[in-house]
Amino acid sequence: MVNIKWEELGFDYMKTPYRYISHWKNGEWDEGHLTEDNKITISEGSTCLHYGQECFEGLKAYRRKDGKINLFRPDENSKRLNRSAERMCMPEVPEEKFIDAVKQVVLANEEYVPPYGTGATLYIRPYLIGVGDNIGVVEAPEYLFSVFCMPVGPYFKGGMAPTNFIVSEYDRAAPQGTGAAKVGGNYAASLLPGYQAHKRNYSDCIYLDPATHTKIEEVGSANFFGITKDNKFITPISPSILPSITKYSLLHLAKERFGMETIEGDVYLNELDQFAEAGACGTAAVISPIGGIQNGDDFHVFYSETEVGPVTKKLYEELVGIQFGDVEAPEGWIYEVN
Ligand SMILES: *Cc1c(COP(=O)(O)O)cnc(C)c1O
Repeated sequence: MVNIKWEELGFDYMKTPYRYISHWKNGEWDEGHLTEDNKITISEGSTCLHYGQECFEGLKAYRRKDGKINLFRPDENSKRLNRSAERMCMPEVPEEKFIDAVKQVVLANEEYVPPYGTGATLYIRPYLIGVGDNIGVVEAPEYLFSVFCMPVGPYFKGGMAPTNFIVSEYDRAAPQGTGAAKVGGNYAASLLPGYQAHKRNYSDCIYLDPATHTKIEEVGSANFFGITKDNKFITPISPSILPSITKYSLLHLAKERFGMETIEGDVYLNELDQFAEAGACGTAAVISPIGGIQNGDDFHVFYSETEVGPVTKKLYEELVGIQFGDVEAPEGWIYEVN
């Protein structure tokens, strides 16, 4: 067994033994293979380096009590990768190839899938990049699709404890831009606001709708949700939000399992008093309760800066229970790796 203190893991890079890589050239993908080399050699003219022609995904493998390994809705990651690829003018990766690559990487690095009960998971990062000799602003002549992985703990320092966020004056995406695609450019735009937020001890930024700056869009790497005082689950709707698979899963669970009214709608910054609880959700963030939001000089506390609200807790336990195989999953949500 590998010697890792699973309970102490943060969200940090770790080189695991194997990764998958496949090359697209002349209109088709090659077979793809596992490699121990964590470096790639690409042309200096690669479009991913200059023009941001790339997209990526993030999903996790979960060790069950019986030792088997679950993937959570990897078909949805595959579909989203292909929607991002279309927006970035890149070839699609067939769903079968995507899921096979993910399974190969998890199995090859099985020792690094954290044991059940440690709270840690195996984070899986698929990415697709434009490569090959090029200098003009056009789509690349060749592409690489790769999948690598590493064991991780909580994304935000608190884990399932509330942390505070700050409203950013910057935008991460434009109204008709690439906000709904999981692409590096959106993240490049968020690095400076993120750096400034961390320096002031906030977990991350809250981005507003880029057209009017009056509504909450999302957190830098996770979607926003709120639980109203009359028990409705509300999450923002906008073409520049990244459609979070976790968010859609919570919408389903809130409605179907807890009988809550669920709404995708506008969340105005000046109407935060309607919420009893709020959180950030995503594969990496899971559900991270939001203690308070700093907006200029105003600091709005939701449930508490130290305690997790009861509805957030209930949703978290249902979601994580499903992911680790302790709670029955809606049909088609779980893919077994082994
Ligand atoms: C990946 C991502 C999320 C979370 O999506 P999940 O599918 O739930 O992991 C949220 N916001 C942004 C900007 C993202 O890139």
